[in-house]
Amino acid sequence: MSINLYLKKGKEESLKRFHPWVFSGAVQRIDGQPEEGNLVRVLSNDGKFLALGQWQIGSIAVRVLSFEDIEINRNFWHSRLVAALRVRQAIGVADSPLNDTYRLVHGEGDNVPGLIIDIYGRTAVMQAHSVGIHLCRQDIADALMEVMGDRLQNVYYKSETTLPFKAGLGQENGFLIGDTPENVATENGLKFHIDWLKGQKTGFFVDQRDNRSLLEHYSKGRNVLNMFCYTGGFSVYAMRGKANLVHSVDSSAKAVDLVNANINLNFPGDPRHEAFAEDAFKFLSEMQTPYDLIVLDPPAFAKHRDALKQALRGYTKLNARAFEKIQPGGILFTFSCSQAVNKDQFRMAVFTAAAMSGRSVRILHQLHQPADHPVNIYHPEGEYLKGLVLSVE
Ligand code: SAH
Repeated sequence: MSINLYLKKGKEESLKRFHPWVFSGAVQRIDGQPEEGNLVRVLSNDGKFLALGQWQIGSIAVRVLSFEDIEINRNFWHSRLVAALRVRQAIGVADSPLNDTYRLVHGEGDNVPGLIIDIYGRTAVMQAHSVGIHLCRQDIADALMEVMGDRLQNVYYKSETTLPFKAGLGQENGFLIGDTPENVATENGLKFHIDWLKGQKTGFFVDQRDNRSLLEHYSKGRNVLNMFCYTGGFSVYAMRGKANLVHSVDSSAKAVDLVNANINLNFPGDPRHEAFAEDAFKFLSEMQTPYDLIVLDPPAFAKHRDALKQALRGYTKLNARAFEKIQPGGILFTFSCSQAVNKDQFRMAVFTAAAMSGRSVRILHQLHQPADHPVNIYHPEGEYLKGLVLSVE
């Protein structure tokens, strides 16, 4: 049973333009008291139906599941998942003999706010970012098995750290369906161990696939430094691209183990690769190797808008170090995955770093998240990954 929620006068405009959120300040009154995660029917001040969504506590009060007045049941999840799979087939990442690693559902970008599903071989890792999605998890997992058929054996639920802490759900990670421990998946013909049990996000940074591919084409004969390497995605592609040497750096010793394991899986015993557990700034200041291809893919420096200024200074400082050290004719792949930092702000931070170094710098590519992380055109907030490929003289 859904509860009716009435908006303040004039607050219906963004929903009419299909923006999928209702902010708490727009709410006039509610017929009853929904619990977090409950379905609410959002109505204009004069009672016209606008959207159906899940109630949340916080500044976003409702995340919209549908702009039609329908039932939210297994059929609903089924149809959303069919639509999501169809897009991944069109992109070419699903049902490919060379690739079984992709994002099947990207929240608002797939008209399912709060839900992430990444596919790793025969396992789907599902992540809820809202109580509403958490409450529907089993229905979603069952619908997922129906839609994916033979492609899938397991659904692992990994929402311990993404559900609102205050909701007090005490959720533990675990399998909703199946329990096969096999965790090797293939991305563009390269193999990766995916650590969905303990890894960051759903276990792998699926969003850098296209950018890793691009890097492969620049790698031949170069000395590559993959800074903030995590599972070593960029390193493995650089190896296949015939790099002269590849150094992977991450402050986490666990990440260094992961990158070494992934290199061994694809290029066992290849002496061109070495990994270091060190702080990025320290490594960049002290390094002696003449690198001519550097990747900077740091964690989000700004998790919130308030941290924006400091984050931009962080990006400038980091990139300045790379500009100081990279060899003439070098290529720099530099990224920001902070949603609070937009493309222009990031470019300005990198511009400042370039200017500080006094080097001649040209932009070769402007990068972004891949097509299996689609941005809902009515929800530009969904755009988060940006990168630049720079040629440095
Ligand atoms: N490039 C990776 C994803 C990077 S995630 C990929 O393609 O998969 C960010 C990584 O930065 C994490 O593994 C984290 O351990 C590491 N990190 C965070 N702070 C760091 C620092 N100061 N120096 C080096 N690594 C750091």
